[in-house]
Amino acid sequence: MPFILQERVSLKSFNTFGVEAQARWFAQVAGAADLQRLLDDSRVRDLPRLILGGGSNVLFAGDFNGLVVRICPRGIDDLGQIDGARLIRVAAGEPWAELVEHLVRSGRPGLENLALIPGLTGAAPIQNIGAYGLEVAERLHAVHAWDPVSGMVQDIPADQCDLGYRDSRFKRQIRAATVLGPQTLPVVLAVTLRLPQPWRPVTGYAELERELAARACPRPAAADIFDVVCSLRRRKLPDPAQLGNAGSFFKNPVVSREQHASLIERFPSIVSYPLAGGRYKIGAAWMIEACELRGVTRARAGVYEGQALVLVNRGGSTGADILDLACEVQERVQMRFGIQLEPEVQIIGDSGRLLSS
Ligand SMILES: Cc1cc2nc3c(=O)[nH]c(=O)nc-3n(C[C@H](O)[C@H](O)[C@H](O)COP(=O)(O)OP(=O)(O)OC[C@H]3O[C@@H](n4cnc5c(N)ncnc54)[C@H](O)[C@@H]3O)c2cc1C
Repeated sequence: MPFILQERVSLKSFNTFGVEAQARWFAQVAGAADLQRLLDDSRVRDLPRLILGGGSNVLFAGDFNGLVVRICPRGIDDLGQIDGARLIRVAAGEPWAELVEHLVRSGRPGLENLALIPGLTGAAPIQNIGAYGLEVAERLHAVHAWDPVSGMVQDIPADQCDLGYRDSRFKRQIRAATVLGPQTLPVVLAVTLRLPQPWRPVTGYAELERELAARACPRPAAADIFDVVCSLRRRKLPDPAQLGNAGSFFKNPVVSREQHASLIERFPSIVSYPLAGGRYKIGAAWMIEACELRGVTRARAGVYEGQALVLVNRGGSTGADILDLACEVQERVQMRFGIQLEPEVQIIGDSGRLLSS
C-alpha cells in the first residue's frame, strides 16, 4: 500500500508514555521504494526527520516540527540452518514481543530471555536491547538498512554495528545529530537473527535462576524460560497500556575500579556488578531510591513505586513534566553520588532537535 503523507498528526497513540505531541508531518512506510518517494516529496524533503518504531523508547518533550516516519514492513523468513545456527530474517515492522513468542512456540528458541520487550524489531539493534542475561548483540547476524545518502539498502554485519550496553553505532549517530534534519541516519528495514544450534539455555541471571529454582525447574526448556521471564516482567514493570512509561528511563552507569572503591567506602550497601576490564556497573535504581525519589509525583509525572528506574505518566502528564522529573532525578543523584545518570530513552525536542540521550 502506498504511503499517505498526513499533516498535523497526534503522536499520543504512537508513544508508550502516552503523552500528547503533534507531528507537523507523518507517514507510515513499508519499504525502501516508499521511503525514497516520501523523502523526495518537496513538502518534507528539507525538514527534520524522526524515524519511529513502536515509540517505546522515546519521550516527546513537545510537538515535533518535522516529519515522523513510522517504519512498518512485515514478514518473517526462516533462512534455514547455516554454520551452526538458524538464521531468521525479520522485517523491521514486526512487533518484537510477538516475534519472540512465535519463534519459541514454533520450536525455534534462542530469544526467550528477551520476551515481552515492547517495540518493533527494527529498533532492536538501535540500543542493543537486553534483559535477563541476554542482549540482541548475541543473536544478531546482520542489519539491513536503507542509506539515505546512496539510496541503497546495505547489509551491515553484526560485528560492524558496534553494539554495546544499550548502545550501537546507530544510537551514537542519532546522538551526534543535533538536528534530526535531512541527514545521513540509516533506516533499518530488516534484521537477520542468528539462533545458535544446538540451543542452550541462558540462565545465569540471578533473578531468573532463583525463579527457575523456585519452580523446581533445573533443566528448563525455552518455553519455561519464556514463561518465567514474562511473569517476572509483568510483576516488575508497569504495562504501558495501563500506565504510560518507556521502561528504564536511565542507563546503569559504568564506573572505574577506583570510582567503585570510593563509592563502596562512602555507601557500603550500593548495588554494583563487576564487568570485564575491571569496571563496575552501578545500580541506578538503588541510587534513585537512596535519594528518596521512588514513588514521588511531580505534576502528573512519577517515579514508579515498583521500580525506581521507570518514570511514568500518571495520567495527563506532558512530555515536559516527565522531562522536568528526569532532570530532578539526575540532579539529586549527581549531588549525592557525584554520578551523572544518562537517559536510555531518546528525548525529542519541540523544534525537531534531539535534546539528549
Ligand atoms: C514496559 C517497557 C519495558 C522495556 N523493557 C526493555 C528491556 O528490558 N530492555 C531494553 O533494551 N529495552 C526495553 N524497553 C525499551 C524499548 O522497548 C526498546 O528500546 C525497543 O527496542 C524500542 O523499540 P521501538 O520500536 O518502540 O523504538 P522507538 O521508541 O520507536 O525508537 C527508538 C529509537 O530507535 C530509532 N528507530 C526506531 N526504529 C528504527 C528503524 N527502523 N530504523 C532506524 N532507527 C529506528 C528511533 O529513531 C529512536 O531513536 C522497554 C520499554 C517499555 C515501555
